[in-house]
Amino acid sequence: MIRFDEPENEPGPAFYITAREGELSDDPLALTIGRGSSGDYLTYWDETEGDRDAKGVLWARCFHSLSRNGRPVGRHVGVLHPDRQYGTMLHRYCGVGACPARTPDKRYLHLVTADERLPDGTVRTIHPPVCLDHAAGYAASDPRLRNGYTTLLVGASALWGVIGTAYAAVGSHAVRPRPGGQPRLLPYGTDELRWVLANRLVRDLTDVEEVDLYRVLRESPR
Ligand SMILES: [Zn+2]
Repeated sequence: MIRFDEPENEPGPAFYITAREGELSDDPLALTIGRGSSGDYLTYWDETEGDRDAKGVLWARCFHSLSRNGRPVGRHVGVLHPDRQYGTMLHRYCGVGACPARTPDKRYLHLVTADERLPDGTVRTIHPPVCLDHAAGYAASDPRLRNGYTTLLVGASALWGVIGTAYAAVGSHAVRPRPGGQPRLLPYGTDELRWVLANRLVRDLTDVEEVDLYRVLRESPR
């Protein structure tokens, strides 16, 4: 089971996908109830086109603290940035630097932990791939890899769903997180997603080969 990324005591270095101070928004009053022909759903008072992903799921809004060349700036807060996590996972860019991450043999390098593995061998992850140039530094410094990881070359993967918080209606307009309020893993296509505010995109890695990271780095032409 995927670990939900909680702020670390020692957050480690800041990557492209890590959120910086002031970027995360938490305004429950922005959310309300939408009325549709097939039932009510969670929405923003002023929902716009960019608030939902391609599969119609509502996403947490966030700010961007970026330099002129588009790099995140500021002290990082030890969790992933919803927009940048979504973009890098969707397009499979490197999570460290938003670089192209496809390897010369057209696969993707992922560093995964044991709790991301399902019993059938599939890896279900919220972490984007890493490019060959950033892989060694990432392996050495990301706190989530501190207790061990496996290096995979991934030939095939598919978007699976999201991690999000389920909301419930309170009265005729207001909403609040359901009791417990814990983020949950939800597959695309489930009706529950109508009431979920997503903040992580989840991908299943299927065609995977376990490799030695440093051997791959030595032998890959760049
Ligand atoms: Zn990179």
